[in-house]
Amino acid sequence: MKFDGFETRAIHAGQEPDAGTGAVVVPIYQTSTYAQDGVGGLRQGYEYSRTANPTRTALEECLAALESGARGLAFASGMAAEDTLLRTVLSPGDHIIIPGDAYGGTFRLISKVVERWGVSWDAVDQTDVEAVRAAMRPETKVVWTETPTNPLLGITDIETVARIAHDGGALHVVDNTFASPYLQQPLTLGADVVVHSTTKYVGGHSDVVGGALIVADAELGERLAFHQNTMGAVAGPFDAWLTLRGVKTLGVRMDRHSENAERVVAALEGHPAVRRVYYPGLDSHPGHKIAERQMRAFGGMVSFELRDGEKAALELCERTKVFTLGESLGGVESLIEHPGRMTHASTAGSALEVPADLVRISVGIESGDDLVADLEQALEG
Ligand SMILES: *Cc1c(COP(=O)(O)O)cnc(C)c1O
Repeated sequence: MKFDGFETRAIHAGQEPDAGTGAVVVPIYQTSTYAQDGVGGLRQGYEYSRTANPTRTALEECLAALESGARGLAFASGMAAEDTLLRTVLSPGDHIIIPGDAYGGTFRLISKVVERWGVSWDAVDQTDVEAVRAAMRPETKVVWTETPTNPLLGITDIETVARIAHDGGALHVVDNTFASPYLQQPLTLGADVVVHSTTKYVGGHSDVVGGALIVADAELGERLAFHQNTMGAVAGPFDAWLTLRGVKTLGVRMDRHSENAERVVAALEGHPAVRRVYYPGLDSHPGHKIAERQMRAFGGMVSFELRDGEKAALELCERTKVFTLGESLGGVESLIEHPGRMTHASTAGSALEVPADLVRISVGIESGDDLVADLEQALEG
């Protein structure tokens, strides 16, 4: 018999009771080095904690199991994971396709750092798969997808883009931070690499910064592990432990995030102060059919525009009582922010500029009644 349901993997994969003590929870192996039994005599393969640490190994094995990958690697942040990946798979002269509204940190890494090493890039609206096909060049080595996107919750058809990337000899990378592996598993749809900011839903409690890569191919996993050790941007034992603690409840959290988001969306849709709601769960969302196919539910991120413009949006952000005004997302607590002035301020004046009357919320797992009531009181003013 196979006991491999998602929630079972989240709690048990990589997390056998400790062989020595029977500890049910993987201990925090707060050590930099390991005693050897004679020169080169490693007890369980551990020699130095940049290379490997048992708490990190547990997290890496768990994340690989959750994304149905061959290998998982845990990093100090999502950006550290991205940097290690890009410097492993790209060389001078290569080209990369990124989303038109890529996460700001990803855009900054590629346009300010990776580009200086002779890598060219194009930002393409990947809700249109034909635009991705048209942007492919002989030197394209990576197609980088985010779905849902931030902050407009655009949906990309992962299966089709993976095929387009492979036809052109490129790797398909999916930043799965917004969906989490519970809602969407890109490797099972043909992608080669999944990126996570585990800071968000995977950790889920806004108490740790971390990142991960999960790959379908063990050989690519080996190359990435070589670069992880060489560059050294690894997750520390305590951060790995906190993330593992969070991941155990990922399934129940994502169900509640999605349920609460649907309730909030229903309230916003009917509200006279709201002009437009962006949520892939809505029938009216242009990516709804694809989202329905590739996601288990539609997640906790919602954006909306207000009829009365930017001032109304800014005021709303300051009037909520349960929703905390702040950046980031994916924690148990609800957050609200103004992308134009906060997370996406750097896009001002560019093609990626976000609407000024846009508000983004990360719907938490508090009482759904309270979340709806809080937004309604804040919209009343
Ligand atoms: C936050 C985030 C990142 C970067 O992760 P950090 O852990 O902050 O370094 C990458 N991609 C997406 C979609 C994010 O939301």
